[in-house]
Amino acid sequence: MDTTIKQSLMEIVGRENFTDALIDLIAFSKDASEHMHRPDAAVWPVNTEQVSAIMKLATEKRFAVVPRGAGTSLAGLAVPEKGGLILDLGRMDRILEIRIEDRLAVVQPGVVYADLDRALSPHGFFFPPDPASGSVCTLGGNVATNAGGIKGAKYGTTRDYVLALEVVLPDGRIVRTGSICMKSVSGYDLTRLFVGSEGTLGIITEITLKVNPRPPMNSTAMATFETLEDAGRAVSEIMYSGIIPSALEVVDRETLMVINENTDLNLPEVEAILVAETDGYTREETDFQMARIVSIFKKNNAITTRKAHSTEEAMALWTARKSAYGVVARINNNLVVEDLAVPMSRVPDMLTSISKIAEKHNLSIPTVGHAGDGNLHPVICFDGTDGDEVRRVEEASAELFERVVELGGTLTGEHGIGLAKIPFMGLEHDRRRIDLMRSIKDLFDPHNILNPGKMGLEG
Ligand SMILES: Cc1cc2nc3c(=O)[nH]c(=O)nc-3n(C[C@H](O)[C@H](O)[C@H](O)COP(=O)(O)OP(=O)(O)OC[C@H]3O[C@@H](n4cnc5c(N)ncnc54)[C@H](O)[C@@H]3O)c2cc1C
Repeated sequence: MDTTIKQSLMEIVGRENFTDALIDLIAFSKDASEHMHRPDAAVWPVNTEQVSAIMKLATEKRFAVVPRGAGTSLAGLAVPEKGGLILDLGRMDRILEIRIEDRLAVVQPGVVYADLDRALSPHGFFFPPDPASGSVCTLGGNVATNAGGIKGAKYGTTRDYVLALEVVLPDGRIVRTGSICMKSVSGYDLTRLFVGSEGTLGIITEITLKVNPRPPMNSTAMATFETLEDAGRAVSEIMYSGIIPSALEVVDRETLMVINENTDLNLPEVEAILVAETDGYTREETDFQMARIVSIFKKNNAITTRKAHSTEEAMALWTARKSAYGVVARINNNLVVEDLAVPMSRVPDMLTSISKIAEKHNLSIPTVGHAGDGNLHPVICFDGTDGDEVRRVEEASAELFERVVELGGTLTGEHGIGLAKIPFMGLEHDRRRIDLMRSIKDLFDPHNILNPGKMGLEG
């Protein structure tokens, strides 16, 4: 990037909101994945007009622009593969309006998930997607990745809550999509096209979100199982029993062993643990739902079941699930956090396949996941300085994705394609579908300026 472009960028955002300092460029060369590429410069715009001026300049001078929220992507979505400019939306972080009478909130893209949740709380409302990274990730990033979380089975993902957007297109035009009404079928659904588009079609500068009343009560229970089949049958049966738990999470034996080896939590080393949560408006309602779930656990040969009688007990039951990533990340040099999803009835098949693939390639792959919506997170642990191990990780990943597709699943439930899953796009999508996606990219971004090199859109 030549100095005249840098000068123009400084004029647009002000010197204090521009950097090409090496230390910043190194920080911006990574997200939470293993991928790394250094940008040429970074800016922090503070309003939509600045974003628009930056994009006009990028189109005129043909440099790449990568929008960035908090950089917590786990699949290389926010990494500037072709260099260029990082456009960090972190300083556009105002909650513009909470309009409870219309059940909506209007926010800038740099608002952190948890900050919106905190602001909604006094109104008795919440924004349900609840990604585990919610204390740091931004709502712009959530929309661009269609983020989800443990409440997905009952409440869906970010996509289900985005009513309207303001977006800056690659040539600098500002467009508004959607409607603030709860219902609208007025023309093509441009809003949803931007949701999950990984910053490849436009820069989201304002978001209107539907918000939900927060159920005040919940119940939590945990069950241990000696076989994956029993746990899997329990999951299926719960999900068609008429009860929809607000969370239904699975933790496998490998994860329990890794946690036990590295903490004093002393978890039961069974084949699988399921943790369920129900929510509602009265204690009777949540307890009624939980009693049904516990009876399904028992019917499917749970070795033990435990129901929490206080908030502290509930937190204790969540320990295995919630401590898993932290423990695994702390003790391994490198991790690939996979994010595949299969139909719920195939969760046991997939868990069995993951453990066979781990054994075959002599790798540790602890797995946790959202059993209630079939979204599993096998975490492939390795040492990136060991060439042989890296090769085995690549082979194991390829086998995992082949198996996912065989089971009717999808490469990613919530983290996106980014750079990490490009090699596997052809397993899930046929040529026609990929061509259609490429035509959409061409229509919005004919010069391939926005987040180039992602999602397998080039080729
Ligand atoms: C410990 C941990 C736990 C996680 N748990 C979950 C989880 O439970 N569920 C889940 O879904 N994800 C999870 N993630 C992944 C990640 O947090 C989500 O993908 C999140 O939505 C990314 O938000 P971000 O602000 O960090 O975006 P970034 O990582 O900065 O960017 C992600 C993508 O969005 C694009 N983007 C960002 N802002 C904009 C914008 N304003 N306009 C256009 N494009 C934009 C970027 O270009 C990039 O393609 C987790 C990550 C970590 C590290």
